[in-house]
Amino acid sequence: MTVLADRFGRVATDLRVSLTDRCNLRCTYCMPAEGLAWLPREEQLTDDEVNRLVRIGVELLGITEVRFTGGEPLLRRGLVGIIQAAAALTPRPRLMVTTNGIGLERMAVPLREAGLDRINVSLDTLDAERFQALTRRDRLADVLVGLEAAASAGLTPVKINTVLMRGINEDEAPALLRFALRYGYQQRFIEQMPLDAQHQWDRHEMVTAEEILASLAPFGLQADPVSRGTAPAETWLVPGHLDAAGEPARVGVIGSVTRPFCGDCDRTRLTADGQVRNCLFATEESDLRKLMRGGASDDDLAEAWRVAMRGKRAGHGIDDPSFLQPARPMSAIGG
Ligand code: SAM
Repeated sequence: MTVLADRFGRVATDLRVSLTDRCNLRCTYCMPAEGLAWLPREEQLTDDEVNRLVRIGVELLGITEVRFTGGEPLLRRGLVGIIQAAAALTPRPRLMVTTNGIGLERMAVPLREAGLDRINVSLDTLDAERFQALTRRDRLADVLVGLEAAASAGLTPVKINTVLMRGINEDEAPALLRFALRYGYQQRFIEQMPLDAQHQWDRHEMVTAEEILASLAPFGLQADPVSRGTAPAETWLVPGHLDAAGEPARVGVIGSVTRPFCGDCDRTRLTADGQVRNCLFATEESDLRKLMRGGASDDDLAEAWRVAMRGKRAGHGIDDPSFLQPARPMSAIGG
């Protein structure tokens, strides 16, 4: 097998697949209130096309982990079938979903039965009014029942992803961690990145990993003896707490901007319209949909994917004066 290697010796084994660019929330840091110009249906990959590319990734390119995201992946009608198809592959990849949790109450068991291993739920606040202001929707209760449903369906460890923003929810790190500890979820805080549709990101307004850790000082966090490997989150142990599996409880911080981990990146991305992106911040994409619809063989598609990954840059370059925010926002890339 010839894997997805780049010029810097990194090998991509973790595939992020965006299943739709649509979302049922309108998080202020992600999308404008009116939403975005959604992909026309004919441009979106069909379920069969998604399944084919995931199969090529696993069978021909050495992908071992597939995360389905979006937009909001639970809005994709064929999600359960897509998970089933991926779970039937050999070698079987680990399968994850990143979701806002709305609809998870209904979907958790079918997803688990289809073969989903784990889930990440995005939740930026535990305060209903703040939630409504931040997401422009009154859906906090749905997210909370979704989290519970995921845990009882065995989609564990359930991880909560939180973006902290200055003057909005930056004071909530301790409350969110306490909440996660109480229910056995794993809390992760993510630095806000320049991927908003409105292009309003400001580095000085970003709550940094260092600030997040300082606000968690009362928990007496301890260095995690388990190596981080290629995971984006740096993790710490929370003394005196166990997770749902009886392991020491952990909290993660993803310092994408101030503590970039590009040197260990093992990710490759596929957008809902079939474009390979070799980096979240790539400004170029490779069109597998066009090749596929033009009759390309599995080997042709695998080779085009390899070529796309070879051109991956050493780092995302957010700190370079020449940094250009990608044209697609996070919701259209797949977060
Ligand atoms: N709808 C799903 C969800 O809410 O998890 C999946 C897509 S969403 C784009 C994935 C994650 O990206 C969410 O946790 C969201 O908070 C995060 N996100 C969106 N914009 C971001 C940004 N500019 N910087 C960092 N994280 C961002």
